Amino acid sequence: MFDLIIRRARLTDEQQVDIAIHDGKIVAVGQVVGTAKCERDLAGRYYLSAGWIDSHVHCYPKSPIYHDEADRIGVSTGVTTVIDAGSTGANDIDDFYAITRSAATQVYALLNIARTGIVTQNELADMQQIDPLAVRDAVQRLPDFIVGIKARMSSSVVGENGIKPLQRAKAIQQEIGGLPLMVHIGNNPPDLDEIAGLLTAGDIITHCYNGKPNRILTPAGTLREAVKQAIERGVRLDVGHGNASFSFEVARIAIAQGILPDTISSDIYCRNRIHGPVRNLAHVMSKFFSIGMTLPQVIDRVTWRAADGLRLQNKGRLEVGLDADLTIFTVKQGACPFIDSEGEHVQGEKYLMPLAVVAAGQWIVTDEGKTNDVFGV
Ligand SMILES: [Zn+2]
Repeated sequence: MFDLIIRRARLTDEQQVDIAIHDGKIVAVGQVVGTAKCERDLAGRYYLSAGWIDSHVHCYPKSPIYHDEADRIGVSTGVTTVIDAGSTGANDIDDFYAITRSAATQVYALLNIARTGIVTQNELADMQQIDPLAVRDAVQRLPDFIVGIKARMSSSVVGENGIKPLQRAKAIQQEIGGLPLMVHIGNNPPDLDEIAGLLTAGDIITHCYNGKPNRILTPAGTLREAVKQAIERGVRLDVGHGNASFSFEVARIAIAQGILPDTISSDIYCRNRIHGPVRNLAHVMSKFFSIGMTLPQVIDRVTWRAADGLRLQNKGRLEVGLDADLTIFTVKQGACPFIDSEGEHVQGEKYLMPLAVVAAGQWIVTDEGKTNDVFGV
């Protein structure tokens, strides 16, 4: 007898399947014969995908600047796994780890190369904050929690240090066995050409569609040569919407040229969740419908592509033996007003509504699922 069977789930390719869950793992996908302690019949009405992964969030509750609660930005909104992008450095990573063990949402961290993490806005303005030994020790202490490192490479963060913190980050990355490095881009200096030139396969540029002068496009609207070469080397693009880092105009031009993101992520924390323009991951994902991406393309970028980018080998796919992380959702037709970080308004015509998740085998109804009383509570 299985723990849970979900029947007649609609996949993004419009197939219908049953999925059986046992001991927190997916144990059957297809036509499932057998019984379970609990059965849910989606009747082909509701979509199901691997659990959504938000590759860039901020959920260290004690951060003075960018804080939130994991389950508020996670399972309540259809997201089963979040990756905190550098809120903490070596000083606070153990505390962050301990806090997140009680969350239903599965939390991983990109360790800030600055020991302090984001306690202030300019954590890389003092090179003394970058302590390679402290990074290495933290990664050794928490190998299942720290999935990579983070360097915020914009003028307000690095002060007078220019490209130096990134050179240091690349050296640290080599010392710790080549874990993914996520690099935030924003205002220059350092110039994006210089940043992109240092990145290698598997590194991640977040805020990839920002509308600042350090955008990925030239003034003529073509992809910068340095970014083009970086992508060809295997550097990945992450959305990281945030307060100030997503421009519909840049995304529209880039996507029209076939420059799609590898991952769609929110850069969410309490303020941009409550006041916008982020709201939640589903809202950010839905924005991409209005600029030409399809449902399968959008879902891929929060499932297997996100798992591959952060090397979460047991997540991101509906396959036997992988973690039982699932998101059940619907696509609502109807007007949906969107706003980007530059103040551009776009009227969407459809949007995603997450209804329930299975997180590590546990069935949880989302906020919108409760509001709409789709499955009871
Ligand atoms: Zn961020």
